[in-house]
Amino acid sequence: MTSGLRAEGLTKTFNTGRQWFGERRELKAVDGVDLNVPAGTTLGLAGESGCGKSTLARLLLGLTAADSGLVTFAGQTIGARQDAAWRHQRRALQLVQQDPLAALDRRMSADRQVAEALEVHRLGGSHRQRMDSAHAMLDAMGVSSAHAGKYPHELSGGQRQRVVIARALILEPQLLVCDEPVSALDVSIQAQVINLLKDTQAQRGFTCVFISHDLRIVRHVSDKVAVMYLGRIVEYGEPDDVLKTPQHPYTQALVAALPHAGKRRSQRFVLQGEPPNPVDRKPGCAFHPRCPHAMPRCAVDEPALASTGNAHMAACHLLTTSNTTAK
Ligand code: SF4
Repeated sequence: MTSGLRAEGLTKTFNTGRQWFGERRELKAVDGVDLNVPAGTTLGLAGESGCGKSTLARLLLGLTAADSGLVTFAGQTIGARQDAAWRHQRRALQLVQQDPLAALDRRMSADRQVAEALEVHRLGGSHRQRMDSAHAMLDAMGVSSAHAGKYPHELSGGQRQRVVIARALILEPQLLVCDEPVSALDVSIQAQVINLLKDTQAQRGFTCVFISHDLRIVRHVSDKVAVMYLGRIVEYGEPDDVLKTPQHPYTQALVAALPHAGKRRSQRFVLQGEPPNPVDRKPGCAFHPRCPHAMPRCAVDEPALASTGNAHMAACHLLTTSNTTAK
């Protein structure tokens, strides 16, 4: 078994704000993230929109260059270079995005787009053989031959996302990063696509990073869960530990906001305060402007991710912990 995916000290800052009037401002999208995803397992990454999940996904795949830090997969460094070695590596590292319509070429039929992935990497033999492989993969993904020759706008949202997944899987990736792959789909279709991904992973054994704002979905698909807030991992652990005994006040708020049987919408917890503005990040704990437990220290000292027991970790001054990292 390969050594899986590792990230150490990943940081990415974007310049933003006006260049002609007023000062430039910095948006720290990812701030010192460490991750370890053993080969063949799934890490679920949860958090609100704008917390840096998608930037982290691109850093992990080498699609965006990190300011600092290192990503390795199966012992190989993943970088944002664009040379021949990078193109070879690209085949093993695939991304499934949130919006399948944006990810697909509207002027090309589904089967041709899947076959084209093979062609780009000079795989799959002749055109006829590539098309046969594309049809077989689409069929395995639940897109019948009656739909395989259709254009993206002629397919349903669920069918489009299956085409996107087929296009990624036909390259037999070793690492699949799924960035909100089901959030644009109806609930019933979400379950089908998630089960499809899980079954395919069980057969093929690829490593997966599954990003979602929905903790219930993350819990269902993941071996480990990381919760992200303003560019940092604030909680990490087994899915049941994180959802049943959340340690960080932010995770507690996310869990309390989940719908449960018998709980009316009006009874759900609503996180107070403005959604985070990553450009206007406060010193200390990034969550302190919204945290019901904030202490004076929280506005000054940034808490480190530390163990709360076994592999369960959280970054909060409320916890009496030792300084170990999420590895
Ligand atoms: Fe809340 Fe302080 Fe913990 Fe941050 S460190 S989550 S502000 S108690």
